[in-house]
Amino acid sequence: MKRILVTGALGQIGTELVNKLRDVYGTLNVIATDIRADDAVKEKGPIELVDVTDGSAIFQCAVKYRVDTIIHLASILSAKAETAPRLAWDVNMVGLINAIEVARELDLQFFTPSSIGAFGPSTPKNNTPQVTLQRPTTMYGISKVAGELLCDYYFKRFGVDTRGLRFPGLISYLAPPGGGTTDYAVEIYYHAVKNKTYKSYIAEGTAMDMMYMPDALNAIITLMEANPEKLVHRNAYNVSSFSAAPEDFARVIKKHIPAFTLDYQVDPIRQSIADSWPNVIDCSEAVSDWKFRVEYDLEKLSKDMLAKIKRDLG
Ligand code: NAD
Repeated sequence: MKRILVTGALGQIGTELVNKLRDVYGTLNVIATDIRADDAVKEKGPIELVDVTDGSAIFQCAVKYRVDTIIHLASILSAKAETAPRLAWDVNMVGLINAIEVARELDLQFFTPSSIGAFGPSTPKNNTPQVTLQRPTTMYGISKVAGELLCDYYFKRFGVDTRGLRFPGLISYLAPPGGGTTDYAVEIYYHAVKNKTYKSYIAEGTAMDMMYMPDALNAIITLMEANPEKLVHRNAYNVSSFSAAPEDFARVIKKHIPAFTLDYQVDPIRQSIADSWPNVIDCSEAVSDWKFRVEYDLEKLSKDMLAKIKRDLG
């Protein structure tokens, strides 16, 4: 049985991952931590205030709960990082080395997500391979490539059991996204249900990889449980469910809400980030090394998102 400390646990991924991990490993075996408090989460299991830029705080929490695993999610996401690059460096890089140092000192398993943001404009755009050119032009991307290399380094140099995934844009309904470039792919569903119209800040024809949260959570757990001998690329595996542009979401939403209309008001910062990312990545190494698979395509995801949002909005 694992005992897991999750950093950045109140964000878009952590909110759902903590619930799922508690179902799998037991409520008391999953310690949610974040820089901010949330009383609703507090009642459901252990939660602590931990700022990842303070390494001793992570260490003390890991010792207090005698954890054997860290899932490190605390991060500043792509669009937010462009408005606060220095903060992004501090949280994404200093936070990561603090967390991984605790894993080294206490001999813990370690997981942290990378992103399709770790690729850049010189990366092949279609069928982007697992191993390829990575020269990102954003602060977020720079921190993600450096993070992948740092995790490889701690595995090779110190034998820390590091594992990671390059996530695409994640779509979910429980917690709002935290300032990424693909946030539009969540917002569009809320606007469709509430107003039957959406103005996309990403331009028509801009395809990016996407994944529904239940598939992302399953991928994390499957990779963490995978036989280490099979893992050729520990940090980090390409994973994605489908590639889509704003008009693809609109086409599927219209099947459920015929009056839905989509128009565009492009945000130059987020558009330039999107333009620097791949259109569609190749996930075959994740499939062959640890049997990565997904359940949701755009049609199935859209049906579920719209039903859940309608239910929650009453
Ligand atoms: P999020 O922005 O929703 O949540 C991040 C959490 O980190 C927040 O709850 C925030 O309070 C916390 N945090 C910020 N600074 C902190 C600090 N100094 N100490 C402790 N906590 C701090 O992010 P997310 O979407 O849940 O992403 C988690 C990870 O997954 C990140 O590494 C991100 O880069 C990666 N990722 C996410 C996506 C996506 O679409 N959501 C895609 C690719 C990769």
